[in-house]
Amino acid sequence: MAAGHPAYRGRQLFEGLYRRRVTALDQVTSLPASWRALLASAYELGLPRMDAVFASIDGTIRYLLEFSDGQSVETVWMPEGDGGESGDGSEAGEEARSYARATICVSSQVGCAVDCRFCLTAQLETRRNLSAGEIVGQVIAVLNDRKVAVESQRINLVFMGQGEPFLNYDNWIRAVRLLVEGVGIPDSRMTVSTSGIVPRIHDFGAEPVRPKLAISLNAPNDELRTGIMPLNKKWDIAKLMAAVRDFPLRNREKVTFEYVLLNEVNDRPEHARELAELVRGIRCKVNLIALNPGPGIDFRTPADQRVEAFQQILIASGIPAFIRRPRGRDIYAACGQLKRTTEPIQISL
Ligand code: SAH
Ligand code: SF4
Repeated sequence: MAAGHPAYRGRQLFEGLYRRRVTALDQVTSLPASWRALLASAYELGLPRMDAVFASIDGTIRYLLEFSDGQSVETVWMPEGDGGESGDGSEAGEEARSYARATICVSSQVGCAVDCRFCLTAQLETRRNLSAGEIVGQVIAVLNDRKVAVESQRINLVFMGQGEPFLNYDNWIRAVRLLVEGVGIPDSRMTVSTSGIVPRIHDFGAEPVRPKLAISLNAPNDELRTGIMPLNKKWDIAKLMAAVRDFPLRNREKVTFEYVLLNEVNDRPEHARELAELVRGIRCKVNLIALNPGPGIDFRTPADQRVEAFQQILIASGIPAFIRRPRGRDIYAACGQLKRTTEPIQISL
């Protein structure tokens, strides 16, 4: 705020931008009219433009959101949660069912440099970090489009869209703070997923305001993991698990391990047993995701029986395990499918 103006004007602007989610500065009616006109002419609000909107038969909506430099990312609205983060007991103690719920899946970068072999986002050529405003802007754009009042509708956020949040750490954590303090979504309803950027897992543990942690593990040993996630050469499973074991969990909090099942690659019974041993002793749950297919991905989706058999081995070993239902596969909105697809979809459900 310009010098010489009272601090409460800044607060009014902040409230208008984030809590009331105005789309133009002249709508911040708590500010004097002369100010509003001046601000509106001097600053663009910078909410992303809705380039395209794809609606799935399951209620999921995929938004293609464009920023001022022409780059775009995807943000996904899932009306009943994502089948993994909600309703699995991890939120015990909250009045989970008392009002409508939805989950928004948010992107942290344009594209992704981590290059996991099973992920379509890795195929995107343009890559850049998103600013904190661009990360918050996605959430505001979707909340506005869905006409959500965060006070009366339970909104979960998952940072599981395009990009690796922990490779854009500073902007991303600033966005988290704005979403908590400005937009009014508590950090206990947010989950961030990382492919395993070990130094940032340590930093993240020290944050006073922070979402829950999910780790994309995807394999129970280094040989398999390096084969599908090249970053495992830099931060191998021993380093990753040491960081997770060190991570300061809050009361009742659990770490989530995500595990994408690739047919005949990492989905055998011995892999499930190895995984159970690897995570033993960590307060955690495992979310199993059967591969969502896509062009250029050289893996196959395992049959339901294989996925269920894998889950049963984990459960029998005392590890809580859940199968994440694919959401919006028909519109390329499911995990690992975010790569700005706009052509008609050719895959079957
Ligand atoms: N980059 C971060 C955040 C994105 S989350 C991360 O990888 O953790 C994306 C999640 O979808 C990850 O858990 C990833 O393992 C999973 N995923 C990626 N490609 C997938 C695919 N084709 N099918 C199913 N899940 C996939
Ligand atoms: Fe990047 Fe995550 Fe996709 Fe890996 S799974 S390429 S880290 S978005």
